[in-house]
Amino acid sequence: MASVVVVGSINLDIVASATRLPTPGAKVTDALLTRHPGGGGANQALAARRLGADVALIGRVGRDAEASAALALLRESGVDLSAVAAVPDAATGIALIAVAASGENQIVVAPGANLRLVFENPKIPAVDVFIGEHQAPGDAVAQAVKNFEGFTCVALATASEADEVVLRDADLIVVNESEAAWYGDSLALRDGLVAKTFGASGAALYRGSEQLARASSPAVTAVDTTGAGDAFTAALTLALVEGQPHAEALNFACAAGAIATQRSGAQPSLPARDEVERVLKEND
Ligand code: ADP
Repeated sequence: MASVVVVGSINLDIVASATRLPTPGAKVTDALLTRHPGGGGANQALAARRLGADVALIGRVGRDAEASAALALLRESGVDLSAVAAVPDAATGIALIAVAASGENQIVVAPGANLRLVFENPKIPAVDVFIGEHQAPGDAVAQAVKNFEGFTCVALATASEADEVVLRDADLIVVNESEAAWYGDSLALRDGLVAKTFGASGAALYRGSEQLARASSPAVTAVDTTGAGDAFTAALTLALVEGQPHAEALNFACAAGAIATQRSGAQPSLPARDEVERVLKEND
């Protein structure tokens, strides 16, 4: 099984589940409030762990009560947290998430301590795979991509500049539809792989402008789509590193993403490997 290091954000998700999302300036008053560990890097680390990999996470939290809540599931699941440092003068990242009954969501992130992540040690532990998540400072992700010799995957986020090093050197970049639109042509000019996710409509894998594979997603009743992209990213990366052909790897990732929409919360919903394999068999 692959060994993985993830550099990325760690948040506590404060989730308000309501019948519908408010339009700007409007109010919705029937929400139920829950708190779950989240953050793209943390989600990807846990997703890879549940899929069977040995995983270490590099990140930053605050010295506050939210930090232990944010790290609880990672700790329980055996993700190596020795490179997660607590910053004294910044708060643990918080994501305010509103989820509608349809599964659609709206997210506001206060990154706090995540912004303090620097990549001080260019020597990443000897692992097979690096996953970087772009809500963490782009410099830290770019430094890691530059210095790592194994397979590198970066999940881009909107509203952040994709570093030239990342665009040039990452073996795999993962974007959803809005991120794909944000980064535009720069993705088609790459030599490496680009995976685009299309929510319930599945995903496609490209090299430059050539489509290598297209997969549909298993039909599911989505309860909360938070974390679906993170499950997809970890699953696709592991499947490719395991040597699965492009189409098979993309199916595996879509099944992982679909399962993650069926339960609430980003981390509680991340699937174990046997669950993904069962869904793939059922949809065969
Ligand atoms: P993100 O969460 O990053 O915005 P997407 O919403 O595109 O990314 O979801 C990532 C993957 O999760 C999709 O490619 C798909 O496989 C799966 N997925 C997401 N939403 C659904 C859904 N409603 N039904 C089935 N699969 C879904």
